[in-house]
Parts: sequence; C-alpha cells; structure tokens
Amino acid sequence: MRLILFGPPGAGKGTQAKKITDKYMTAHISTGDMLRAAVRNGTELGILANSYMEKGELVPDGVVIGIIKDRIADKDARSGFMLDGFPRTVPQAEALSEMLNSEGKTIDAVVSIEVADEEIVNRILERQKIEGRKDDTEDVVRNRLKVYRSQTEPLKSYYAEEGVLFEVDGMGSIDDVFGRIDRVLSELNA
Ligand code: AMP
Repeated sequence: MRLILFGPPGAGKGTQAKKITDKYMTAHISTGDMLRAAVRNGTELGILANSYMEKGELVPDGVVIGIIKDRIADKDARSGFMLDGFPRTVPQAEALSEMLNSEGKTIDAVVSIEVADEEIVNRILERQKIEGRKDDTEDVVRNRLKVYRSQTEPLKSYYAEEGVLFEVDGMGSIDDVFGRIDRVLSELNA
C-alpha cells in the first residue's frame, strides 16, 4: 500500500504514523524527521534546511523532492510506504505523481487528519514542553499553520480529484483517531 498521511502540524501525524506502520508494516518516510537528522548532523543540507525550519517556512521544493526521490527508491519502500509531511505543495505532489507513474505506480490513499486551529496551537505548545522542538514556539507554530492552510491544504482537492482522499476527524483520543484511520485502511486492504 502507498499512503500519504496528511494534516496540519500538531494533528498527531507522527503518533498515528507509528501506529499505522506497526499494523500495516510499511516504510515510514517523514521528511521532517529526515531534515531534523540532517540539521543534527550539521550537513550542508541541514544548514540550508534549518534556515527555513526555524521560521516555520517550507524548505524549497527541489530539496525535498530530491530527498524523497532517493528514499522511495530504497528497497524497504519498493512494495509500499507511508509518507508523513510530504507532499506539502502542488509542485511536490506533481513530482511525486511523476516518480510513481514512471514505474506504473500510484498513491492508494491520502488520509487527512482534520483538527481546528486553536486545538492545534494548544497541542503544539504542550508538545514543546515535552519534546522541546525548536519550531514549536507560538509564533513559529502560527506561521506553520498559515503556511499549511495556504500552501498545503489546497493539495486536498488535487487528491480528491484523483478519488483517493479520505478525511478523518482528528479530535478525541489517540486510539479514537487511529480507529477511524484503521477503518479506512482496512477497507482499502480488503
Ligand atoms: P514536520 O516535522 O513534518 O512538521 O516538518 C518540520 C519542518 O520541516 C517544516 O515546518 C518545514 O520547514 C520542513 N519540511 C518538512 N517536510 C517538508 C516538505 N515536504 N516541504 C517543505 N518543507 C518541509
């Protein structure tokens, strides 16, 4: 199965991603995690990415598309994967479609976790207390949300037109939300 996990920052994508990959045994590909690793390692990519990440801006399309192209060619991702945090712009979605189509593959489902803005800001500020992510301060969170609503959310219509968009209510407990996602995925798998 080839999935995209979609939703605003703080929607619980990372948590749900773990539960999905555990149950459906698919490679978990998070551009945010890959970029954070590059920042930690102080690579050229990390230094460039950090200048965008610390402001809550998107890293340029060409950079993340290159990372994804290499990663989905890895052996563990050839039979299926779950993308978390990619694509975030229309050019990224188009590049992904091209990469897959050239091998006769497509995305099976885009699961979009829906959460209202105020709930997101509260959740992220809580997460900051626990994880201490540098881009979880209130100003940066508000900018990440603005970027999400303006550049990323429009992708929902791109995938709705392809008939693969599934919206899931992201309110309630972790298990409530996973239950909703699981229903969508088990039907697709049936
Ligand atoms: P995330 O952990 O997915 O919330 O990503 C953290 C930050 O990494 C984002 O705010 C962006 O600065 C950057 N980032 C992650 N994925 C992408 C992407 N697909 N396109 C552009 N920037 C990204």
